[in-house]
Amino acid sequence: MRKLVFAIIIFSFIAMAKEPVDASLIAEKFVRTALREQKAYQWLRELTSIGGRLAGSENSAKAVRWAKEKMEQLGFDRVYLQPVEVPRWERGNVEKAVIISPENLKGRELSIAALGGSVGTPEEGITAEVIEVKNFEEFKEKAPQVRGKIVFFNVPMDQGEINTFKAYGEAVRYRWAGAMEGAKAGAKAVIIRSITTRYDNVPHTGMMGYDTKIRKIPAVSIGLKDADFLSNALKKYPHLKITLKLNCRQLPPSRSYNVIGEIRGSQHPEEVIVVGGHLDSWDKGEGAHDDGAGVVQSIEAVELFKRIGIRPERTLRVVLFMNEEYGLSGAKAYGEYVSRASEKHIAAIESDRGGFTPRGFTVKAEDPVFKEIKSWLPVLQKCRIDWIRKGGGGADISRIKAKALIGYFPDDQRYFDFHHSANDVFEAVNPRELELGSAAIATLLYLISCQGL
Ligand SMILES: [Zn+2]
Repeated sequence: MRKLVFAIIIFSFIAMAKEPVDASLIAEKFVRTALREQKAYQWLRELTSIGGRLAGSENSAKAVRWAKEKMEQLGFDRVYLQPVEVPRWERGNVEKAVIISPENLKGRELSIAALGGSVGTPEEGITAEVIEVKNFEEFKEKAPQVRGKIVFFNVPMDQGEINTFKAYGEAVRYRWAGAMEGAKAGAKAVIIRSITTRYDNVPHTGMMGYDTKIRKIPAVSIGLKDADFLSNALKKYPHLKITLKLNCRQLPPSRSYNVIGEIRGSQHPEEVIVVGGHLDSWDKGEGAHDDGAGVVQSIEAVELFKRIGIRPERTLRVVLFMNEEYGLSGAKAYGEYVSRASEKHIAAIESDRGGFTPRGFTVKAEDPVFKEIKSWLPVLQKCRIDWIRKGGGGADISRIKAKALIGYFPDDQRYFDFHHSANDVFEAVNPRELELGSAAIATLLYLISCQGL
């Protein structure tokens, strides 16, 4: 009898070991440890102190060294660099838009920033009348009047849209295609209303597109206050003229790196779970939310296993991608590696939506895998994850062939206040919100590494 009771106790203990109760305790431990010790937040301070990290720049090389040394110091089993060729663009030190007529507005400067990839202007600048349009339809109607002018695409982000990423996706068409459309109609340059949710005068940059068959014209964004000022001024003075001066330029491509660090799995080391963000950033701020947060969360999510003393059953690999912002170079290089690799990638998680309070995970997977991941919601709720939905994983992991591509989705109401602008600095990140993200990602890594997919 006594033996039987003992056997039942042992049996139920083994059976319990894989139950969510166990995982919930681990989740709570991740949360407490992350919130108390705030390691990711300290690392973010170090990373952002480098400054903006445009791919190919000196700062991006510093960030590569910092990330490699960090994971080495933390005692990851293996840390290495994966070479990536990156296109290089440099903002330069001349970035100016000044009204030159009418007389009473002469000398009034506008708060602008060159869009990433823009060509510069001649040294004396481009001087022309400004013509405002509210959308591509209006642009088409006004096309005959555009020749020789600077087109002002004054298209606001839809503030009524609850999903800010959706609103961004709609507005970003103008940033991407504005210069191509403008050039086709004979414009000299374009100005794009900044894509942001915050009403201030800080311009937000970001990548723009050119068509090799069409003449390249300069493109800048403008802060919202000056966008409204310019729009009002144009109502009064339809022949308002500005001079635009930029010395940004394209440089030859250069060598950079994805930074990779991993902890080997104890049971299935050949099964890899990737977690990552991008190490590069735009140059205007410090790339704190975009994507310093994702970088330090990815490192911490894996390092938390060591800190609380558990060994993952499958290999956890941090991939810090180089050049998400200006062409996804690192994502392509890692995706190519995966297609040749003998190891098996079972899942990849990306954090590139800022360091805000956890909300959910979006999952790209077949139905059975999706259902399995969704069944873990009660555990993930310990880290303030409210939902798990079908959706894309993210740009950097999009080239990885795996059973599940997962995007970490924090609260999205403030991200575009900071995104791609001088507002995106260390001080804009809240330590508790950032750390909860680390814990949520660590918990998901734990569940995948125990259960497999
Ligand atoms: Zn990003």
